[in-house]
Amino acid sequence: MTRDKKISELGEFGLISRIAAGVFAPDNVITGIGDDAAVTVTDQGMQLLTSTDMLLEDVHFRRRWHDPYRLGRKSLAVNISDIAAMGAIPRWALLSLAMPSDLPLNFLDDFTRGFLSMAGEHGVTLIGGDTCSSRSGLVISVTVMGEQLPALILRRSGARPGDDVWVTGTLGDAAMGLKLLEDGCVPSPLTGEGQGGGDYLVSRQLDPTPRSAAGLALAGAGLVTAMIDISDGILADFGHIAEMSGVGATLRLNDLPVSVPFRTAVRAFPQFPHHLVLSGGEDYELCFTAAPIHREKITELLKKCSLAGMPVGIVTSSPEVQVLDADGASFLPKKQGFNHFAP
Ligand code: ADP
Ligand code: MG
Repeated sequence: MTRDKKISELGEFGLISRIAAGVFAPDNVITGIGDDAAVTVTDQGMQLLTSTDMLLEDVHFRRRWHDPYRLGRKSLAVNISDIAAMGAIPRWALLSLAMPSDLPLNFLDDFTRGFLSMAGEHGVTLIGGDTCSSRSGLVISVTVMGEQLPALILRRSGARPGDDVWVTGTLGDAAMGLKLLEDGCVPSPLTGEGQGGGDYLVSRQLDPTPRSAAGLALAGAGLVTAMIDISDGILADFGHIAEMSGVGATLRLNDLPVSVPFRTAVRAFPQFPHHLVLSGGEDYELCFTAAPIHREKITELLKKCSLAGMPVGIVTSSPEVQVLDADGASFLPKKQGFNHFAP
């Protein structure tokens, strides 16, 4: 029975083989898992994009909330989201794991299944990684590589005064989901998007969807001037576009999109929790800028990707990012996005 087996019973190479067993390598992978380095080919004229992220137990996730399947999905999703934010095609991933030796083998199997399911949904192949033992919790490091034509790559630096600021999907769901978990909500097993109420919010926290089709379509259409994914809340993340583009923005508080489950959960709060919408992390939606003349085309394009999107503000030449409430008065947000080394 593998049910009660620990990973230590398999050893490093047994574990690597177990992970590799679920991987099918397409033509763009010449040499995958098993040699000293992977060999891949990019399509002609494409540039390579690389992004990496770490997920640490009790910093980024808690094992009592995060089932291994969705943890596997999320650890790849957050990386795919970075490639999507550049308008590129995600292709290959490296997975490095440091695991406590008493981790159940079952956990690793479910994690791998989750990771590879996310990979399959986005055309990503696992081509390598590293496996070691950890004495301080589970550490996951994922690197994703993607490719895109140089002219189509979208950076944080192209926003221009007068552009609309857009966001896809809804904001604050993942942060509200985290709040529900902190308040003792027990995540139901393997819910997905489309689920109602608290389950939906919790699943947005545990199993986010990287917007890679939308990122790619926006890049291909050539309508977008700058783009970023929202991992730390729109205020902080648009702040990066503002800084890199040498601009600011006026954001309209009332136009920031929130979901029906979010509105329902808000009833438990004494006041509308604007900070979750403005500065809640981990929605992995896209924030981008584009000239107002492209509004209709962009709405259509996102619709084709089964995603909603709306302009929520205007880029300004003065460097501040201001939030205005329904009366046009300046709204002072309570706190900025998550910062690991905040004093
Ligand atoms: P080396 O000693 O040369 O670093 P390793 O023994 O660490 O090689 O890894 C052997 C092969 O297995 C390599 O191709 C490596 O990329 C791959 N690999 C190791 N760990 C993982 C993992 N967690 N997921 C996927 N591939 C892995
Ligand atoms: Mg190694």
